[in-house]
Amino acid sequence: MAFRKKQKTINDCLAKELSEKACSAIDNLSGELHELSNKLWAKPELKFEEHFAHETVTTFFEKHGFDVRRKYPLETAFVASNKTTQQDNGPCVAVLCEYDALPKIGHACGHNLIAEAGAAAAIGVKAALDHVSGNLGHLVVMGTPAEEGGGGKILMLDAGCFDNVDFSMMVHPAPFDALYTPFLANQKVFVTFKGRAAHAAAFPWEGKNALDAAVLSHNAISMLRQQMKPTWRAHGVFTDGGTVPGIIPETSQLHYFFRCRTLKDLEVLKEKADHCFRGAAEATGCTVDIDWYGYGESQKPYANFISNPVLTELYEKHAKSLGVTFPSKSVQKSFPNGSTDMGNVSYVLPSLHPGYSIKSTAGNHTQGFAQAAGREEAQHPTLVAAKSMAMTTIDILCSFYSVFEVGNRHGLLVPNTTTDQELQHIRNSLTENVKIQRVEERLSALGNVVACNDYVALVHPDLDRETEEILADVLKVEVFRQTVAGNVLTGSYCAITNQGGLVHPHTSIEDQDELSSLLQVPLVAGTVNRGSEVIGAGMVVNDWCAFCGLDTTSTELSVVESVFKLGDAQPSNIATTMRDSLIESMN
Ligand SMILES: [Zn+2]
Ligand SMILES: [Zn+2]
Repeated sequence: MAFRKKQKTINDCLAKELSEKACSAIDNLSGELHELSNKLWAKPELKFEEHFAHETVTTFFEKHGFDVRRKYPLETAFVASNKTTQQDNGPCVAVLCEYDALPKIGHACGHNLIAEAGAAAAIGVKAALDHVSGNLGHLVVMGTPAEEGGGGKILMLDAGCFDNVDFSMMVHPAPFDALYTPFLANQKVFVTFKGRAAHAAAFPWEGKNALDAAVLSHNAISMLRQQMKPTWRAHGVFTDGGTVPGIIPETSQLHYFFRCRTLKDLEVLKEKADHCFRGAAEATGCTVDIDWYGYGESQKPYANFISNPVLTELYEKHAKSLGVTFPSKSVQKSFPNGSTDMGNVSYVLPSLHPGYSIKSTAGNHTQGFAQAAGREEAQHPTLVAAKSMAMTTIDILCSFYSVFEVGNRHGLLVPNTTTDQELQHIRNSLTENVKIQRVEERLSALGNVVACNDYVALVHPDLDRETEEILADVLKVEVFRQTVAGNVLTGSYCAITNQGGLVHPHTSIEDQDELSSLLQVPLVAGTVNRGSEVIGAGMVVNDWCAFCGLDTTSTELSVVESVFKLGDAQPSNIATTMRDSLIESMN
């Protein structure tokens, strides 16, 4: 268990060092970052017309060492990635930049500042990754146009831009600091009624009044409000109400938005509203066309935003360390809010979307807020939000650092990026007979490419020869180049101890037999974390004890217990000591 304790120390030291790098990189560039948002503020552009913003922001990223794919996958979108890291090199974070404005009132939602905050966070994360030669993970920045009613992120999701991303983040200027504001799912609809025109004075009985149908459905929805949850919203306008009073209106049209805190509730509200429209058509003898529309091929509505709790808590910690104070969680949850296409991203991958105060007394989408978004006073909070994003990312990437190590009771191999100070920490935490060595391995995530117990190691078929020799020497193991169910990442797809092993659920019986005879322990194929095949990432196990991910089911746990023989007579003093040291290390 000393290993777990040491792990925390390594991660914390590294994260602290990298966070300092990130924050000073952001500070060094504060003038240029301010200029970036000022340029966008001075030239507001509407959804899908953000050509100047696209040019300005992509030029910024090119200048600062990013590979930029301009005009992708939309004319005013882009995807930029950090040149010094590879897509398959560890987890991938996406930082998002919005830059569209509103009709007539310019940057009244402050998206010029969102672009600046995204650029600043990316500069910070890049500085941190460059400092560790890009081993920790990969950074992409996306320019996501048309948040104001164009669903740019939904289109980019459809185009596959997020396929290789592991988590994503952005911040939004607001009149308050908040992490838990509920962004609502929003379903839009055009409802068109068709009746029959007639002379309104001479032959009104010949007509079928389409305006009456629209009015009736508007009133029916008003009555429905008594049966709506307090958090539901229904709001609409008449876009066609006939031509002149002398003619019974032949057509009418309503444009309505329906919003709820979840997509599930939205389905319920949608059905109720549908009845209102159809009922009104029936009562007036009109026909009705109900066009529930969304964005992209999938015609998806904006989804509610699901705030990832880990990202949120880390962001909160860092923002507070930089002087931000947040209202209580319940107050934050009561803040009024709209909808965002970031909600759709949050349904696909862990995401963060805090609001940060730019000291504006006016709310978003007003003249007053547009002015605040261009003021000098907005700069400090924007860079604080950017630094908090960068530090959150660094914490997450460093917590994945454990995949860079492999060890057993004889020794521990760590990557050559481990600093002297970290190495000293590790030495101090382990007994003298555990040998520690740095290795220079191209496949740097050692924990993913090596699975071992005290006697045998199963390794990635392409592991460097030199690493193989070090493994054999330091960990005193016999090394076999293997795959698990066809996967080269042996460390990710199995967990082995001196008692038994759990392997990828698709491992064939023949392969299980072969692996079992190499290891000389029984194996079973199974899963952890409610069906996850990435066993190595979902559990830690030794000869006495196992810790599995929170989602692991009781059936999965009983398989783990039985194959690793954890239920068998354990010397209770060992278990107690381990538990104590673990609890200590988690505090
Ligand atoms: Zn807005
Ligand atoms: Zn906005």
